[in-house]
Amino acid sequence: MSERTRAFLKTPEWLKEHITDPSIRVIDVRPTLEQLESGYPWGHIPGAVHLDARELFTMVDGIPGKLVPQTTGEAVLGRLGLSREDRVVVYDDSGGPLAAQIAWLLDYWGQAEVLLLDGGWQAWLASGGEVSTDQPQITPRDYQAQPDESKIATIEWIEAHLGHPDVILVDARTPQEYERGHLPDAILFPWEMCVSTGTVQRYLDERTLRHRFVEAGITPDKEIAVYCETGARSAHVYWALRLAGYLKVRNYEGSWAEWSRRHKVFAEERAETAEQPAAGPCGLSAVPEAAAPSTVSPLSSERLTRDQLLAQARAQVPELDVYEVKRRLDEGEPLTLIDIREREEWVQGHIPGAKFIPRGFLELRIEEVQPDRDAPIVVYCAGGVRSLLGARDLKIMGYRNVYSMAGGFTRWKNAGLPFVVPRVLSDEQRTRYSRHIIIPEIGEEGQIKLLESKALIIGAGGLGSPAAYYLAAAGVGTIGIVDFDEVDLSNLQRQILHGHSDIGRPKVESAMDTLREINPDVEVIPHRVRLDSSNALDIIKAYDIVLNGSDNFPTRYLVNDACVLLGKPLVDASIFIFEGQVTVYDPQRGGPCYRCLYPDPPPPGEVPSCAEAGVLGVLPGIVGSIQAVEAIKYLLGIGEPLVGRLLMFDALDMTFRMLRVQRDKDCPVCGEHPTVTELIDYEQFCGLPPRRSMAEGNGRGDAVTTVHAENP
Ligand SMILES: [Zn+2]
Repeated sequence: MSERTRAFLKTPEWLKEHITDPSIRVIDVRPTLEQLESGYPWGHIPGAVHLDARELFTMVDGIPGKLVPQTTGEAVLGRLGLSREDRVVVYDDSGGPLAAQIAWLLDYWGQAEVLLLDGGWQAWLASGGEVSTDQPQITPRDYQAQPDESKIATIEWIEAHLGHPDVILVDARTPQEYERGHLPDAILFPWEMCVSTGTVQRYLDERTLRHRFVEAGITPDKEIAVYCETGARSAHVYWALRLAGYLKVRNYEGSWAEWSRRHKVFAEERAETAEQPAAGPCGLSAVPEAAAPSTVSPLSSERLTRDQLLAQARAQVPELDVYEVKRRLDEGEPLTLIDIREREEWVQGHIPGAKFIPRGFLELRIEEVQPDRDAPIVVYCAGGVRSLLGARDLKIMGYRNVYSMAGGFTRWKNAGLPFVVPRVLSDEQRTRYSRHIIIPEIGEEGQIKLLESKALIIGAGGLGSPAAYYLAAAGVGTIGIVDFDEVDLSNLQRQILHGHSDIGRPKVESAMDTLREINPDVEVIPHRVRLDSSNALDIIKAYDIVLNGSDNFPTRYLVNDACVLLGKPLVDASIFIFEGQVTVYDPQRGGPCYRCLYPDPPPPGEVPSCAEAGVLGVLPGIVGSIQAVEAIKYLLGIGEPLVGRLLMFDALDMTFRMLRVQRDKDCPVCGEHPTVTELIDYEQFCGLPPRRSMAEGNGRGDAVTTVHAENP
């Protein structure tokens, strides 16, 4: 996958090896700057032809940077001796939007192979690549485009897809340009977030890119249309999305320049920015740097030095010293504290309660963290410089109460004020759990939640086996297992935690070995006891959630009562021959407990056990896995738990049925007037005849009647 998707991005080394390959054509799209003696005539990659991008993107119908008519473009490319069958390598000065835009056009027009030189001319020079001033011999050819309309977004396409649930519009411009006006619901994703910093800009690796896109809400299941001012920076993001494995990507070539004119949108400029010139066509001005987001304060139209810029920011943003911030926090003032340093800095330690938004994401995420424009916000970085600029940008976004913390975290720490070192994933963990982390509903935060979670599994048998397997693999950090038994040959038909060589060993030991092998991150705590009224509360209270895989009624009532008394959610399940049931008992969330459904135990001996009736070996595999799903959902706080619902599975019909189940306000343990307020003797309780005739045929977790009951 990674080889294939990165295949269009080429290094200077690759190009040196292939430069004599006759199927390879190299196009230099750098602007020629006479007075600087810079550009193609003063040196280029040997054999490259020069293309002036303005021949393909120019003023059309009063809109700058529009794509010329197809026949005009074909003539331009044909004159350079290109044909659609060529493998074309495009480069600009530093791997920026200009090359990306030409490459996108060739891709759109059906070029056999479009390749980008990563880092462009600067990378070529840095690699010691040969520089030529020779003009190659060009034989004009007939270039015939075959446009692939799935790669372009026209204004009509955009208009037809505004608000479409499966389409995401991405704005590749700067936050300042975005603020002055953007397409409805567009997600801001400045193009520079796709490249490394420095003179030679290279695309970030596909995983980082994908992570950044997903974090910004740009997910691969949607169709993505990218725009900027005139379609160059957006082309850069187009390729970054392709690198990240996104398949449905379009470049809106007309971009904001076209949209704002056609829709008569006038830049919604603040009074201060009235003199700001309209943003030029991106990537197409004579000076390539103009394509980059302006580093000049949007509050001024002059060019500023770093110090002038900081002085200006300081004039706009009040600063607080570290003691003042501490005092306000101690007094309980509702300060939103934002740490805008990079991840590597954050993980070394931060102020307690601070929210982490790296500088590059500040404008993008601040509204998620603090939507109230009047709320007091303190921004800090390491030394107080980045926070000054960050705070200024929050002011531009309309936050009225923003401060920068003078001296930053360094001064805070040196003053001996308290800080915390956050839990973060190691590199190995980031790889191990990468398929979780990429899911927006989980992410790194969710994975850390799982690692900090504690789940207790009652019984290392048929149900406990698959549940424990998946909880361990998912990285649930602490897994307790209660089981007193030893592994028996007859267990191996379904209890997959144990193997043949484990026969005779305590099940908790065999389980511990298996789970550690799956995931050494997980701490497995063996409880080799018979769970009873004397120990249940002590064991269960240390866990966040309990999964019940026990096979007898006394334990079922015991675990239920203990969980209700301790306020712990209980993922309960039972199996019988070909049928199974799962539900989550959590009276605190309004659902019933086991006793609400089954107030009294069945008469002893009435319900046959698995040993007596048999069980399909794979059945607990399905039901126990569903228990694991419910536990993981609960621990992450996502989805709808099976609270108040009983899922019934029939393997012979291969059907799942869902029954609504309700809490009984007269329940002896979770009802309004509970009579069971401590654990009782459950052996004795289950040895007694039923106290209510209502219970007859009302269903039992382990009973044949249960799975056929229509309304347990
Ligand atoms: Zn109850």
